[in-house]
Amino acid sequence: MSFSARIFVTLFIIFASEAKFLPKSRNGCRALLGDTLIKEIASYKNVKNEIFKYVLDGDFKHKTYDELAKFVDTFGARPSGSQVLEDSIDHMIQLTREEELNDIVTEELEVPHWIRGTEKVTMLEPRIKEIDVLGLGRSVNTPPEGITAEVVIVKNFEELSNLSNKDVDGKIVVYDPIFTTYGETVVYRSQGASKAAAKGAVASLVRSITPFSINTPHTGSQNYDDNIKKIPAGAISLEDADLLRRFYDRGEKIILNITMSSTYETKTSRNTIIDLKGTDHPEKLVIVSGHIDSWDVGQGAMDDGGGLFVSWAAPVILKRLNLRPKRTVRSIFWTAEELGLIGAYAYEEKHRNESHNINFIMESDEGTFAPLGLAVAGTQEARCIIAEILKLFKSINASTLVEDDSPGSDINVIIKNGIPGASLHNANERYFWFHHTEGDTMNVEDPDELDLCAAFWTAVAYIIADISIDIPR
Ligand SMILES: [Zn+2]
Repeated sequence: MSFSARIFVTLFIIFASEAKFLPKSRNGCRALLGDTLIKEIASYKNVKNEIFKYVLDGDFKHKTYDELAKFVDTFGARPSGSQVLEDSIDHMIQLTREEELNDIVTEELEVPHWIRGTEKVTMLEPRIKEIDVLGLGRSVNTPPEGITAEVVIVKNFEELSNLSNKDVDGKIVVYDPIFTTYGETVVYRSQGASKAAAKGAVASLVRSITPFSINTPHTGSQNYDDNIKKIPAGAISLEDADLLRRFYDRGEKIILNITMSSTYETKTSRNTIIDLKGTDHPEKLVIVSGHIDSWDVGQGAMDDGGGLFVSWAAPVILKRLNLRPKRTVRSIFWTAEELGLIGAYAYEEKHRNESHNINFIMESDEGTFAPLGLAVAGTQEARCIIAEILKLFKSINASTLVEDDSPGSDINVIIKNGIPGASLHNANERYFWFHHTEGDTMNVEDPDELDLCAAFWTAVAYIIADISIDIPR
């Protein structure tokens, strides 16, 4: 499927899924589940306590942070298609083997390899100033001497469509949407270039998709429409976007020179699959996952090093504690998430005819700050079961169930087929401050919060993998 088709599918999932809310009254779930199942779920308290004790106060204390730090310090950024990404995958396999977990499979797939080169934006009028810029994924190049043109600024697509083609032709379009939510605001990054090009623009820039900035541009993927001229696309900081806006509103003419270069080719990478085989139903899967690739800027410690390592930790902790659930706990390290969920699409396609075996699929890709609960997709009954499991985590304040029909990024590709799943709901108010910037480093991560996430992730996966009933669809 083309990248634009994927975007369409993702949007379709977001807007067209039927919401299946939890019953309004507290007794609604009780009636659905019955006392026997509720008692059974409550009986996992001891196992949950054992896992938490081992991770928070036992041999695993700060292990998740220490291994993540070693990983991030050794490999740094892990862009799709790079050798360093492949080396980091080998490292994870080795680290897992050292834990005597030997059910490890890798699955090869073709991934994009986009490498940024020179990127420079200079404001020439009304005064000379360098503007920090990060090219967006897959952006095409400017000519070597760059593109010099006047700027037109719009807040949204409606403002753009209200301009005549003559107003935009030959100009640089700058989008300066104010961040509301990521989902709402990111469209100006992901679709802005083609919409501007359709009006005759020669390049486009977007105010970075973040609520907070210390003059840091945020990169990210973008998608060209097949039938529209591809123009260079970059992101600038909130500070510079707001500066341009002030000049613009005063009626001053703004002229920028944009110089951007990059290369783009296809390489081979791998999804990594680690199984802790179930005792009774090894074919049935409870999946925990995170992506191993990152953007080329920053170190990919938060996005998605934290999610990768809590998902690595789950089978490792269970193995160390000799806790073998009835179903298999499968950990997946997706590759090439950042350039369009490439690894997830490949996995879904390859495993489509066994998808009935996926009992539940989980992903952590929105930070590993203090856990608060889960964002859950599934039927009402499925959500009631998860809500009941989450009651076991009241003592760490992680009992919240957020109803979300497309709760993840990679896992949405699987969930759209009606498979229940969840992503980690955590205290991630600062997540988008660091997202896709040079600021995504180990300094964002906290050893105690990672322990809470790892223990929570492991305990939830264990309970779902071990209870007497499958999560219904
Ligand atoms: Zn991510």
